[in-house]
Amino acid sequence: GEVRVGLGSCCVAGGSAKIREALEEELESLKCKVDIKPVGCVGMCHRTPLVEVVIPGEEPVLYAKVKPEDIPEIVERHFWSDSPFIKVRAATERWLKKLYTDEARNVPDRYSINVRDEPVADFLSRQKHIATEHGGVLNPSDMEEYKRLGGFKAIKDVFFKNDPGGLISTIDKSGLRGRGGGGFPTGKKWDIVRKAPGEKKYIVANGDEGDPGAFMDRMIMESYPYRVIEGMLIASFAVGATEGVLYVRAEYPLAVKRIRQALADMEAAGLLGDNIMGSGHSLSLKIFEGAGAFVCGEESALIASLEGRRGMPNYRPPFPAEKGLNGCPTLVNNAETFSVLPWIIRNGAEEFAKLGTDRSKGTKVFSLAGKVERGGLIEVPMGITIREVVEQIGGGVADGRTFKAVQIGGPSGGCIPASLGDTTVDFEALSEVGAMMGSGGFVVLDDRDCMVEMARYFLSFTQSESCGKCTPCRVGTKRMLEILTRLCKGQGKQGDIEKLEQLAKTVKGQSLCGLGKTAPNPVLTTIKYFREEFEAHIEGRC
Ligand code: SF4
Repeated sequence: GEVRVGLGSCCVAGGSAKIREALEEELESLKCKVDIKPVGCVGMCHRTPLVEVVIPGEEPVLYAKVKPEDIPEIVERHFWSDSPFIKVRAATERWLKKLYTDEARNVPDRYSINVRDEPVADFLSRQKHIATEHGGVLNPSDMEEYKRLGGFKAIKDVFFKNDPGGLISTIDKSGLRGRGGGGFPTGKKWDIVRKAPGEKKYIVANGDEGDPGAFMDRMIMESYPYRVIEGMLIASFAVGATEGVLYVRAEYPLAVKRIRQALADMEAAGLLGDNIMGSGHSLSLKIFEGAGAFVCGEESALIASLEGRRGMPNYRPPFPAEKGLNGCPTLVNNAETFSVLPWIIRNGAEEFAKLGTDRSKGTKVFSLAGKVERGGLIEVPMGITIREVVEQIGGGVADGRTFKAVQIGGPSGGCIPASLGDTTVDFEALSEVGAMMGSGGFVVLDDRDCMVEMARYFLSFTQSESCGKCTPCRVGTKRMLEILTRLCKGQGKQGDIEKLEQLAKTVKGQSLCGLGKTAPNPVLTTIKYFREEFEAHIEGRC
């Protein structure tokens, strides 16, 4: 048997590294030969630390919110020492400890759950794991296990059964759109890079996630490093790129460590470098640690940062697909976009396109956070409604509270009221209600949340992250923030709402890049759907 311990950053923050140590000590003291397997993100951040006991022929048992003092009981339940002497000694010691101390205790039954239990089943049932395939099972740093579970099969198919043009049509057929926020059709983007003139082409994985409440890219890079790189190999073959970079925030040390390890493993196995698998295709990759500017998620700013310049967006055209890194055609895709590619190749474009809506196919990874009972990392088919995510997967808001709104897409997205909870999660439907998919932040708000304060919070983020290159964004967001701060302090004036709307229009319309063009969204949507709260602040009613 084996014991799986979730060791993603969220799990570690919740204490799972200590759980692993306690398990090692306990199993060692009982001379039990059981593998402790570190696994990546299980998705259930609301129940960390998680321990899963897997014994062949038995139903796996998952323990949630485990504490180090629970470990002896868990081990005793599932594993016995080989030595009867040690078994008796350990049991006696535990009995004495129970007798004389308060700290020893049984593992409460409520901590022992399995996937058939209702809350866990509900959390998982509406999900479809494509980018996060084998989550909670796969050891993120074990390349051999990744291979056993179908890893690198897609690149073999691509190299030996496909040509770049055919591969691009497959991705076109799948309907895949960029998962970084904009939703640009992936096949179309690849075609532009492929057709752009130039001897040298680059590929870049955008892992510069920085939205408040978002952690999708972090978890994908930490938990599926080989998959992201396999996706880059597929895309590089399609566009003809031979060099590339994984741009990862320096604040994501575990993602950096695991990607670095995966690059070294793949180089050693001949899966990166020259003439990979004798296919004639070459790709060398390196990692670049970004310094944490939100604007560097924008393609041209990211490229400037890679070139050692200040991370500021450029006027476009030319687009990076035509003239990007070092002046060469460059494909920039988000880490999540790369991580769905192996699945599409292995299962077929049609299978992917069966999921989702007419215009938005496949699945999307979200970080479900805020006032929801069951927060975590989820992957859902496009077309699911906001209410289904909040109530079925998230378990709704706490007892006695009411679901008020959801902020989708982080600071670039918008605030959608509960009354529009039947809006489907797809690129167009979200933009029709004034929000956007963004990269996948999904923050649930309840009746205690002040929407004016929410608008102020998100705008304060974009304002401080504005690179300052263009006046509407640099000055406009500042003026808007001043008004919102005043409103939150109870010093609002008649006309403030109209001023906010006017400034928002200018900032959206006149800013150079996506940061400025979308920064007013949280303000505009909160005014649109919760205008009475703004009026109440002005009139001193709250
Ligand atoms: Fe910089 Fe804002 Fe202009 Fe973008 S919109 S270039 S972030 S000042």
